[in-house]
Amino acid sequence: MSDDIALSKAEADGGVVRCDACPVLCRIRPGRPGACDRYANEAGKLVRVDPLVVLERRPDAARVAFAGAADDWSGALVRQPAMVVTGIGATTTYPDYKPAPFIVSSTVDGADMVTVVTEGIFSYCGVKVKIDTDRYLGPEQAAVRVGGEAVGHVTTAEYGSQMLSLGGVHHLTGGSKKEGVATCEAMLALCNREPVELTVDGGATVIVQAGAAPVVDGKTEQRMRVGCGSAAIGMFAPQWRDHVDEVIVVDDHITGVLSEHQGGKFLDMKPAGIRVRGRRSTPGRYFQVAEPGLGWGGTNVTDPLEIVERIDPKTAWPGLRLLMVSTTGEHAAWFTLDAALKPVESEMPAAVRRVVDRIAENCEPALCTVLFMAGAGGSLRAGVTENPVRLTLSVKDMLTRVTCGGAPVYVWPGGGITFMVDVTRMPERSFGSVPTPALVAPLEFTLRRDHYEALGGYGDRIVTLEDVLALDHVEHRREP
Ligand code: SF4
Repeated sequence: MSDDIALSKAEADGGVVRCDACPVLCRIRPGRPGACDRYANEAGKLVRVDPLVVLERRPDAARVAFAGAADDWSGALVRQPAMVVTGIGATTTYPDYKPAPFIVSSTVDGADMVTVVTEGIFSYCGVKVKIDTDRYLGPEQAAVRVGGEAVGHVTTAEYGSQMLSLGGVHHLTGGSKKEGVATCEAMLALCNREPVELTVDGGATVIVQAGAAPVVDGKTEQRMRVGCGSAAIGMFAPQWRDHVDEVIVVDDHITGVLSEHQGGKFLDMKPAGIRVRGRRSTPGRYFQVAEPGLGWGGTNVTDPLEIVERIDPKTAWPGLRLLMVSTTGEHAAWFTLDAALKPVESEMPAAVRRVVDRIAENCEPALCTVLFMAGAGGSLRAGVTENPVRLTLSVKDMLTRVTCGGAPVYVWPGGGITFMVDVTRMPERSFGSVPTPALVAPLEFTLRRDHYEALGGYGDRIVTLEDVLALDHVEHRREP
């Protein structure tokens, strides 16, 4: 067996070789790479430039702990680190018209298994970005751009996070060539954990890098909010009770007002008569107290008193102690009402400061998460089995496990094999691209050997792990 397995159709012609790994069909001169830099002509032979990556698995801590509970456990790890052949550098053709480059046998816990290893070329793929920050990045549905080209949009915010949906077939192939190239390059960089500067129409500029804090309008974010304003009231009300008369937690989504909130009622706090702006949803919970922005709690507020609509003289009293704080604890101010019921800022008492610090302590770090999402239910299944739908059904029946560069994936319910994977769980630089444009990602299907043969697999192409490890062009790495 050799690297020629996936390259057997390459044509030699006066030293020029033709690469048939994707529809671009590059004719590559001696000593030169193809258009994607993934293949090259080495002395008249087409070669995959990057090595095939074999991962050494880490011990499965959960299974070790489980085994430890058994009476007859010998003390050995249930599963010693094992070698896993990944699709990184494995080669493929697109569309698939021949068996996957590596179909590798192994024995796991006494069962004969097969892993079908390939590189997938995905025109239908995208990137979901979760940005743990309460900073406002832009309106929902706004275009997200790189170098002026639209590469995606802002999607629904999730709890404590701003979400972007990038890439997808419409940006890759449905717009101008420039848009397709910009989209492909942005996705490639994000998936390979490189920083990418994104600009949101009507919003912020944010530098996103998987596993790193976002940089919003030039400022590195520190914290994800502890919860919405109402949740923060619920969490910390008992700790405030003896030190304040009112707390307002400023939040772009739900601003909380302690004395009105169920958390304050439960503690028998008396009404303070401070009415905030916005729409009252339920007692002590207010929507739309300000516009979204980069100020307090993801609003555009820089002076928290801007959101105080009125102070009721029938209810409030001179000397009333008011804390205003954001959902990350980054912004906080302490006020006392004077004789005219006007809030006067002063130094925060230590006991109150401790609770503000506790809000900050309970915030997780600001972080960018990049999930690669793609459909593996197309032609690449033909590289696994002669009867492609049986692979799809086998995945649905959980007889076949899908991994991406050795990392676990989430497979969406319904048709196809539509999966998502956290790129930080994959080896570094797992992704490539081709100029069609499309992304190239590693993919592995693991199942029992008898199941593989039953679903029409290429049994005569099965090789052993030792066969693969004996190849020249193999790189060993540790599982991230
Ligand atoms: S772009 Fe890359 S994969 Fe496609 S034909 Fe050219 S060298 Fe081969």
